[in-house]
Order: sequence, then structure tokens, then C-alpha cells
Amino acid sequence: MARPQPSQNTEREACPCGGLSFEDCCARYLERGDIAPTAEALMRSRYTAFVRQNAPYLLDTWAAHTRPATLDFNDAPQWLGLQVKAHLQRDDTHAEVEFVARFKVGGRAHRLHERSRFERDGDGRWRYIDGDLFD
Ligand SMILES: [Zn+2]
Repeated sequence: MARPQPSQNTEREACPCGGLSFEDCCARYLERGDIAPTAEALMRSRYTAFVRQNAPYLLDTWAAHTRPATLDFNDAPQWLGLQVKAHLQRDDTHAEVEFVARFKVGGRAHRLHERSRFERDGDGRWRYIDGDLFD
């Protein structure tokens, strides 16, 4: 028997945030350096970055005054999906995004229901500040 070949999957990989294809969705922010035009687009790209464990992107899109010094994924849950519930544009530089993210830890499924706050800095980029949890 020949060794199994890596699968030649010609179908495009779905985007973790719910987009049809990663290439056409969050890759433009995570890999091509585009600026997310809205807080919702940024929030989706950050969810995707959590799924893909892209710490540099997450730190780069975190407000300087709330950003952790480092980020590791040692206890990272298994993310199952994202649902954006609301996008509230407060003014030109402040917005909130309410979402539910589903994840699994130790075989049990959970939901994270959060309203996140974002601000747009002088460089035109939206960044995550913090969030309130619902329960
Ligand atoms: Zn996406």
C-alpha cells in the first residue's frame, strides 16, 4: 500500500467566522493586511484569528490600553461557530458588536455571549477594547 496522499481538496476552505470562503473573507485582514472597514468586520476577523491561533493579529487589533502583553493558546477551546447579533455604531470612532460564539471544552459545548466595544484609532483601524458578557 502506498502511503496515503495528503488530500487534494480543491474546494475552498470555509471561513471560521461563517463566510463562504476564508480567501474571500477574513484572509484579506489576517493575511493581506487590509483594514477592516467596520467594527463588525474586525470582530469577525478576530474570531477567525482566535480559531487560527494568530496571536500577532489579535494583539495588533487590540486597543493599546487594554491589550495583554502576550497571548497563548494553551487552554484554547475548540471554537464551533460565530453568530453576530447586532452592530451598533455609536459615532465615527466607537462601535459595539454583540455576538454569540459557540465552543467546546472537554467535550462539553458552551456559548460565549458578549457585547464587545471597539474604537477606531488615528490610523483608521478599528481595535477591540473590552466586552460585557451576557448570561
Ligand atoms: Zn471570515
